[in-house]
This record gives sequence, structure tokens and C-alpha cells, in this order.
Amino acid sequence: MSRSTSDPELEAYNARVLSAVLKTTQAASKLSSQDLTYYRTAAPDVTDAIEKCSSRLLGLTNVLLKAVGGKGEIKSVDELVEKWNKIGDVNDTLFEKTDTYLDMFTNPKSQATVLAPNMPPLQSLKRKRGKLDPTMANANGARPQLSFETKPDNYDTSPFRPLLTKKPNAMKSFEESLQMEYPNDNGQPYYRNPYQYEIEHAKFPKSLKKPCKPLDPMPFEKTAVNWVDTPEKLYTMLKSLRNETEIAVDLEHHDSRSYIGFVCLMQISTRSQDYLVDTLVLRSELELLNDVFTNPKIIKVFHGANSDIIWLQRDFGLYVVGLFDTYHAAKVLNLEGKSLGYLLDIFCSFKASKEYQLADWRIRPLPQAMLDYARSDTHFLLNIYDKLRNKLLASGADKLESVLASSRKECKQKYERVPYDHEYGSSPSGWKSLSEKWAITEEIMPMLKAITQWRDSMARSYDDSLNYVLPNRAIFGILKSKPVNVPGVIGITGKNISEAVKENVDELLKIIVDNDPGVTRVDGVKGITSTSELETDVGQIVAVNQKIDKADPKANEEIARKRTALAEELFYSSAKVMTVKSQFWGSIFDNE
Ligand code: AMP
Ligand code: MN
Ligand code: ZN
Repeated sequence: MSRSTSDPELEAYNARVLSAVLKTTQAASKLSSQDLTYYRTAAPDVTDAIEKCSSRLLGLTNVLLKAVGGKGEIKSVDELVEKWNKIGDVNDTLFEKTDTYLDMFTNPKSQATVLAPNMPPLQSLKRKRGKLDPTMANANGARPQLSFETKPDNYDTSPFRPLLTKKPNAMKSFEESLQMEYPNDNGQPYYRNPYQYEIEHAKFPKSLKKPCKPLDPMPFEKTAVNWVDTPEKLYTMLKSLRNETEIAVDLEHHDSRSYIGFVCLMQISTRSQDYLVDTLVLRSELELLNDVFTNPKIIKVFHGANSDIIWLQRDFGLYVVGLFDTYHAAKVLNLEGKSLGYLLDIFCSFKASKEYQLADWRIRPLPQAMLDYARSDTHFLLNIYDKLRNKLLASGADKLESVLASSRKECKQKYERVPYDHEYGSSPSGWKSLSEKWAITEEIMPMLKAITQWRDSMARSYDDSLNYVLPNRAIFGILKSKPVNVPGVIGITGKNISEAVKENVDELLKIIVDNDPGVTRVDGVKGITSTSELETDVGQIVAVNQKIDKADPKANEEIARKRTALAEELFYSSAKVMTVKSQFWGSIFDNE
């Protein structure tokens, strides 16, 4: 809200709101929500003030909900607590809209420049990272995958059928290459890599195996940069690529706010041009690049193509026949460094900054620095390829062959969907690898298994990465301190908590407590979500207590144990009610 506009009236209003919000926040933070009950009983005028304030806020909330077209009315504070997630969403949307309109008001041109064609608005650049991410899952517009022609289906675990619809440069027919295989050992049926035969048998051009005079790269600043974001531009690019004998290719990928990830950008360089392909908007058109990508007469130079090969198959149905991987060349030549940064430095005296490698490649328009970074990943690569090839040819007959063999092996990889393996805990962030890494004891194992399973199902349902939903370090923290209430969980996950955890923290807490070997639970007492429910449960507990009192306490240890557990449960539930409440009021004051 601390935005400056040229309108004095708005400016003054802004200042008033800001100071009021500040005062309220300061006052509220002096009062701990856990102490409210105490004050209520100790000082009647505090009770009065709280009641008045509560009903005023309740009224304001109803005005707000009505203003955005809400139908019903919230009648009590308890009901408000119950629905606070939804009200929070309404709030977020309102703030988003306000932000956008203020933007349009202060900078009328911003609409045109911020949005690339066919792209929903992305807020990423406008906010700091930590603040941005929590709002993004709510704001559908900020998720490019929602505009994909085929939306991600995180629940599909059937064998992955290659996406391609035809097979250019085929030595074996399309039909033959797309048949399901049934393994003899009763394993999962699967589809082969449809270009497996071609990858193994296609002949590389003879020129590849002769020393050459390395061609200097074009000066970086002077090279034509083509931003390819329409089918027409893609077709023009394809036409010119057909005339090349080698091209350099690289991809940028996003995998934080997505369960399986998606390619955001494809960089292609020829000897004279650099292309940056917007793979978010051209996702379903890119298959036509198979024409060039599977043509063995056009060498495709990648640096470290392992993931790229998988991503090309998964997102676009693209395959590579005729790969030269400069990473494998660096390895076979036993160079001191094997990273692209190292090769750029020693062969092209270009100092690459890797600071954008993990940047958010979904944003549009991409800022100049990111465009430059992306382009530098392929711009010099053909020159590096010339130099590496000469070195390989100079150091023995089999060296080049060995690089080509490793490159072929990479191309033969196959993308496959991975179902969650609860039983054996395989998969990169499954319980098996984590339990080995952290030397998990038998006793705490059920908690690890339950949390990792819960995390996987949340990630699939929210279409976020495992790491975004609940980072491994947070799981480790939970296993170590075994929180028994919501504040305990939030204390571990920190403030930048994912929507999945925020909206289902009760469920996560239940999983933790249910699998905590140190907690004795009493069956029949469920989690309590509102004060009225709490009161009913207090009634039940009093009844149980009276029953226990009638019995002989010494004769019945079991009852005594239950009584303690019930008291614990009561404590944990009331702490939870308080947290939910303070979260709600907190979220009103924390916004901005
Ligand atoms: P690059 O091959 O360097 O262009 O990287 C391609 C993509 O791989 C990037 O857009 C990132 O999504 C991902 N990536 C690269 N390096 C890392 C890393 N160190 N950790 C995680 N992801 C990475
Ligand atoms: Mn790469
Ligand atoms: Zn790259």
C-alpha cells in the first residue's frame, strides 16, 4: 500500500489507511491470543471491548463479502473462523486487483508491455520472491500450465505414450515404433523410444570426423536475436534451420510450482542467428521441429543433454537423432572443468554468470538480463564444438566415437511417469533415500513414511513440486521435534509456508501426532476446530472425569492414563483454536 501516485486525494487516503493499519498491528501484537481467555475473565471491560471490536469486524467482513458478490452472511465469529481460508482468498484477490488497477492508473502503458501475447499475467517481477510465491497458486493467471492445451494430469500413472503424431526421418515406420511392449517378467508395459532404431543406426555426416578450422562466433551484441512466439515465426525458423549442418540447442525449465515441471524456453543458435523460442505459448506446435531434431545430417550440439532429452519428449514429443554433447567431450578429453561456464571461459573468453540458472523462467516478458543469459548458453556452443572436435580427433581415433556413443545413449532415454511408491519408498524424494540420509530409527519410520506420502499427494493435487509443498529440511525438523500443535508445525515450516500446508495443516498435524511414538491418544476425541465444538468436548471430558472419580482410581490405571491423555488432547485442541483465530486476524493486518 505504500505506493506513490500523482493523485493527492488518493495519496492522503493511502497515508491514513497505512497509519491506521500500523497502529492496529502494533496494538494487536502486544496482546497474545493465548492470553485472551484470561483477560476476558479478569477484566469485564476488556471483554466488552473485544466483543464490540469482533462484531464490528464481523460486520465489515460481511460488507466486504457482499461487495464482491457473496450471497450468504457470516453470523458468528466461529463461522468466520471456519471459513477464514475462503475469506483470505477473497482478500488476496482484492489486493491483486487493487494492485493491478493502481498499476494501470499510475502507468497506463503497463498493460501492453507487461503481457506477452497469449500469456496470462505473471506477477513475479512485481514482487519479491518470498512474498510472491504464496499468492501464486491462488491466482490462476500466474500459472502458465493452466493455459496449456493439454493440462498436466498428475494422477495419470499409465505408461507414457510418446506424444508425436508423425515420424519424420524414419527408418522404422511410425506404427511399428509406437507399439506397447509387454516385458516377460510381468513388469509394467511400456512404449519404447520411437526413435531408438534411428538413434542406433543413423549415419553421422563424414565431415564430422574431419578436423576443421573453427568458425569464430558472431559478436554477441551484434547477432540477430529472434523471439519466436507464433506458429508463423516458428515455421520461418524451421525453414532456415533445415539449411544448417549443425545447430546448438538448450532449454530452460521450471520445476518449483509444478508437479512434473515444464520447459519455459528453448534456445537455438546457428552460425549467424540466435533464436529464443517461447515454449509456453508454442508448446503444442513444437513437434514439427522433429524434422530437424531427428535429421542425422544436422548435428545437434547440447551441453549436458540428459534432462533436455527427457523434457523434449515429455512436453513436445521431440526426439534427437545426431547429438554431440559437449559435456561428454569435456569428459573424454579429461579437461580440468566440464561445466559450460568453464568451456565458455577457456575457449571463448566469455565469462558466464550462472546467477539466472535457477531464475523463474515462467515470467514474461523476460528481462534483458535473462534473455542475454539464455542466449549465451547456445550462442558460442558451435565454436566450442569445433574446437572440442579437433581436440578429440587429435587425441586418438576412438575418442570422438566414445563421445558419440555417450551422446547416443542419452538420446535413447525414455520419459516415464512415476507412481508414488509408498511400499518401498523408491523415487528421488521417497522415504527410502531420506531414511538412509538421516539414519532414521525404526520407531520414527512410520512418521517419515506417512509425511512423505501426504506430501506427494498434496503436490499432485496442488500441482506443486514436493520441495515447494514441504522441503526435506522441514520434514527433518518435524521428525526431530515432533510438534503436537499447529504453532509447532508452523514454527518448523517457517513463514513462507506453501498453500498445501497452510490449507491442510490440521491434516498434517494429525499425521504427525498419529505417528508419534511418544503420544498416547484416546480414541473418540477428534480434532476441534471451533470454540463451540470445544465447549461440547469439554462437556464430554467432564463426564468422563466424573465417571473416573466414581471408580477406584488405584484399581484402574487404564482410566487414569486416559484422563491424562484427554487433558493433553484438550490442551492441544484449544491451542489449535487459538492459532486458527490469531492466523485469521493476523492475515488481515499482515496483508501488505
Ligand atoms: P542449463 O542446462 O544450465 O541451461 O539448465 C537448464 C535448466 O536446468 C534450468 O532452467 C534449471 O531449471 C535446471 N537447472 C540447472 N542447474 C540446476 C541446478 N544446479 N539445480 C537445479 N536445477 C538446475
Ligand atoms: Mn541445458
Ligand atoms: Zn541453459
